Amino acid sequence: MKLVCPICGKTYEEPVQRCECGEPVEFETFKGEPYIGKSVWERFWDFWPVEPALELSLGEGDTPLIRSKLGKELGVKLYLKNETANPTWSFKDRGTFLAMSYAVKVGYKAVGTVSTGNMAASVSAYASRFGLKAKILVSESASDEKLKAVSVYGGEVIRVRGDYGRLYFDSMKLGKRLGVYFMNSDNPFRVEGYKGIAFEIAEEISPDYVLIPTSSGGLFRGVAKGFIELHESGLIDRVPTLIAVQAEGCSPICRAFREGKIRIERFETPKTIAKAIATPSPPSGNAVLKLLREFGWKCVSVSDDKILEAQRKLAGEGLFVQPASATGIAALKKLELPEGAKVVSILTGSGLKTLSTTGQGKVRECHLERLENCIKNDS
Ligand SMILES: *Cc1c(COP(=O)(O)O)cnc(C)c1O
Ligand SMILES: [Zn+2]
Repeated sequence: MKLVCPICGKTYEEPVQRCECGEPVEFETFKGEPYIGKSVWERFWDFWPVEPALELSLGEGDTPLIRSKLGKELGVKLYLKNETANPTWSFKDRGTFLAMSYAVKVGYKAVGTVSTGNMAASVSAYASRFGLKAKILVSESASDEKLKAVSVYGGEVIRVRGDYGRLYFDSMKLGKRLGVYFMNSDNPFRVEGYKGIAFEIAEEISPDYVLIPTSSGGLFRGVAKGFIELHESGLIDRVPTLIAVQAEGCSPICRAFREGKIRIERFETPKTIAKAIATPSPPSGNAVLKLLREFGWKCVSVSDDKILEAQRKLAGEGLFVQPASATGIAALKKLELPEGAKVVSILTGSGLKTLSTTGQGKVRECHLERLENCIKNDS
């Protein structure tokens, strides 16, 4: 096992989560070949840092890649990677499964995470599946409704008063002492699990652009590493242009990138409907910035109005995603990509998790005696 800090270059033989310099560490680049197999875990067996616990899989990954009509007016070939098809309805399951495969292997009896939404539900569900205790630390502001989707699996939910940014670091420090393996947003195993998204896309098409809703930066780093490893293994000809997408109301990575900074600065008073990607101090922000710079990639931010419009457009095609997951589609127009470009937008999580922010669609009233009329007349 060898980990390296993408910022200062220091290497580690033991499975630390962060470098002494404070940045996230990552596994060295894997190379390999694909095999015939049922799941992405088996087909890309050479590329994981730990053996996936296949007997405990809930069927995460291997999600549909759907051709969308929404690219037509912009002249691009648009594909949607539907991550809402995962067991707890977001891509987080891919990373949770791999990180938990590691945790059980080395003998942990308890796992934890810091989250209010998708990651909390994912860790709670997989902890039950793996027979581990779960300590889910949530912010004071987390709504009761959201927490139901977390506690239903049996995980222990702890509401923490205090600075949410510090909780990320304190949880890992305490976890080490108390024997709880914290798999937060950009845990190195979690990031590795997200590579599967790149692998599966490459099995089907060779995209020019991939749109990635970005918060902590774990997903972006994982997808990037996946494509880079395929390229270095000689399995694809070129790495696509990756585009980090953020909400205007909380866009610390895009802002730093635009201003040519190499360090993220905290985004004060974040305000956006896309709660799942509203991290004011993204823990992988500097690492994402470095990737954007080195590969000449892009970062784009979108307004809440455009996000809600994109959410409706996707629903109009049969896909109900949460606001954070509609940001890629919202970004399309702004980007002005070349005619005919092949574009993948990652639909990161389901809209059923954010019903309270979803507007009411058309509902008509009808008395049974008048049913014939109601059905005949369109509106
Ligand atoms: C977690 C999450 C993201 C962002 O992932 P990061 O790894 O934190 O950048 C995007 N969309 C949804 C729905 C998420 O739950
Ligand atoms: Zn470092």
